Amino acid sequence: MKITLNPNYVLKNDDGCVLLIGKRLLVDDDTSDDSVISVIHPFHAMILSFVNGDEYDNILDKVSEQLQISREKVKKFIDPLIENTKPVGPLYKNIQLGFPKNTIIKSNQKKLTSYNINDFKYDYIDMRLKRHKTPSNIILMINNKCATNCIYCYADKRHPTDCKIPLVRIKEIIAEARSLNAVNFNLIGGEVFFVQKMERIIKNLFGI
Ligand code: SF4
Repeated sequence: MKITLNPNYVLKNDDGCVLLIGKRLLVDDDTSDDSVISVIHPFHAMILSFVNGDEYDNILDKVSEQLQISREKVKKFIDPLIENTKPVGPLYKNIQLGFPKNTIIKSNQKKLTSYNINDFKYDYIDMRLKRHKTPSNIILMINNKCATNCIYCYADKRHPTDCKIPLVRIKEIIAEARSLNAVNFNLIGGEVFFVQKMERIIKNLFGI
């Protein structure tokens, strides 16, 4: 059996802890919880870094060998998270501490997720609920020009503005969002397709 960390969840470094965040998907998908923002221990994130589409037994062996814990302890941690139908871990002030449904899924695809255990080696642990260190949901409002005039429009169009941000800077912003493991990057206007470089921006967003 091959298993992987559900690719609809992202592990993200924070201040003394790791956040496990659900991606907002464009289509309905009940195999994950897109609203979850969970605080997990960095050591658990290190274990999950090995859960990347490899055979179950190989993963147990690798974690046990590299993190110097018994195979039984690794199994005890991983097994309840494989296709778990309910969250595993306590709720605290309506925030899930622990692991959402289907944290780990069975998969025949190799390397659906890719994390490095060294990214989760911290000098200190701080599992308190607090403001996150970096943004996870990023909105780039690229212009406010639009051909229509919806009554519910959120854009302040009193001073119509074209996109003045150079393409190279937009690419830097997208790269920075990726490096922060942001789970959503929303590109909004106005009418974004008024921006001539939009095709290149979208290709960059999708890594084409
Ligand atoms: S920016 Fe969006 S909401 Fe506002 S008028 Fe244009 S289409 Fe409508």
